[in-house]
Amino acid sequence: MDPVKKKVLIKTYGCQMNERDTEALKVLLVEAGFMIAEKEGDEDVVLLNTCSVREAAELKALGKAGRLLKKKKTHANYKVGVMGCMAAHKKEVLFKKLPGLDFIAPPKALHLIPELIRQSYVGNANQMAVPEPASFNFSCYEHTYPKPKAVAWIPIQQGCNMACSYCIVPRTRGEQQNRPFNSILKEVQEAVQWGTKEIILLGQIVNTYHDPDSKKNFVDLLEAVQNVEAVKRIRFISPHPAFFSSQLMQAFKHLSKLCPALHLPVQSGSDRILKEMRRAHTKAKIWEIVETLRTIDARASISTDIIVGYPGESEEDFQETVALFRDIKFDMAYIFKYSPRPLTWVAPQEQSLMGIPEKVKEDRNQCLLNILTQCSTEYNRQFMGECQEILIEGKAHRGEHQLFGKNIYNKKVIFAGPESWINTFKSVQINKITASTLEGKVVEDCGALWDGINNSEQG
Ligand code: SF4
Repeated sequence: MDPVKKKVLIKTYGCQMNERDTEALKVLLVEAGFMIAEKEGDEDVVLLNTCSVREAAELKALGKAGRLLKKKKTHANYKVGVMGCMAAHKKEVLFKKLPGLDFIAPPKALHLIPELIRQSYVGNANQMAVPEPASFNFSCYEHTYPKPKAVAWIPIQQGCNMACSYCIVPRTRGEQQNRPFNSILKEVQEAVQWGTKEIILLGQIVNTYHDPDSKKNFVDLLEAVQNVEAVKRIRFISPHPAFFSSQLMQAFKHLSKLCPALHLPVQSGSDRILKEMRRAHTKAKIWEIVETLRTIDARASISTDIIVGYPGESEEDFQETVALFRDIKFDMAYIFKYSPRPLTWVAPQEQSLMGIPEKVKEDRNQCLLNILTQCSTEYNRQFMGECQEILIEGKAHRGEHQLFGKNIYNKKVIFAGPESWINTFKSVQINKITASTLEGKVVEDCGALWDGINNSEQG
């Protein structure tokens, strides 16, 4: 039996980094002679690319793995593997909890997975765990893009050197490792050759990026991407508020392709809780960034991450978060109820003694969601009746001939049009808004809306 004739299905959980790793792995698998199964049921091998940030995500993946393993009873040679963050910190537990599991591979072992699958067939071995490599092999991301796409997510680093008390990432992805500058630019060039218009630079703390050799920093990288002519828009995710330099703030002013849309993970509006979280920033720093950006572009979109119900979060602390949330008027936010994680700085006794009841967490979560709905609706209302330049990303799940794309403020816009428009810019007149989306109609021309696009050739 030739292992490379096998069809591999990858199920991805969690963040954009996992999505990008899955995409890179698909290319590596095809290069190694495997085939990719696009839907469940067609596969000989299934890989679960897991996320450990929240307990619920782990339980979901474990449940799925358990159900998939049952297929082994009826499908001879069916293989199940676990990759991603859970594979990094739950090695022993996984083999015990999931008898029959064939292999596990932590994030740094991405490039070794094709060989691991091959071994599982050739040697008929099971319960194989790849020893964690010392470093991440960034060349995994330097590949021919499998298909054209409007937006490319380009990893610039792996891991994190911070020690935020609630976060498991440094234990699953390891210390921060920066991708070489030229490797990033090589991927950018590759992406634009396939028609990509927008580049999103991706990392745990992008604004601490520096080239391992030349020491060029994150702003140098933004400038280099700006200089790639075929790139029309640039975004990045996620920065850490503590490492926002004035040089980076000014980049929003002088880099015409850098979109005025910033994801700023605040986590709490209480300086006391931020200190407990070991976050290294204060509320004052958040305000400084927000005000500077809004001076550059009064409409700048600012989104955030918030944790409610952190151990010991008093009503007073929470009200400080409410005030910050309301005053800044975030137009998008990921609001999380605190989820205790193993191997983090919050000690188990602290979690149980100072833990916030689920009901309180739920109420706080709902309170912020209500404010968010008001703020995002208000934010979106300013686009009503306006014409916006939209980069079309794909088909919308709204019936036939419905497309979606984004404006420079990262707002999703839905409108009618043929599929042939995907990956081009169109002018769209906005005629309907909700808290989460804008809707509109394609028109001939928006006129001079934004120098970043209007000064360059449009797709
Ligand atoms: S900065 Fe903090 S929250 Fe973000 S990945 Fe690093 S440790 Fe986790």
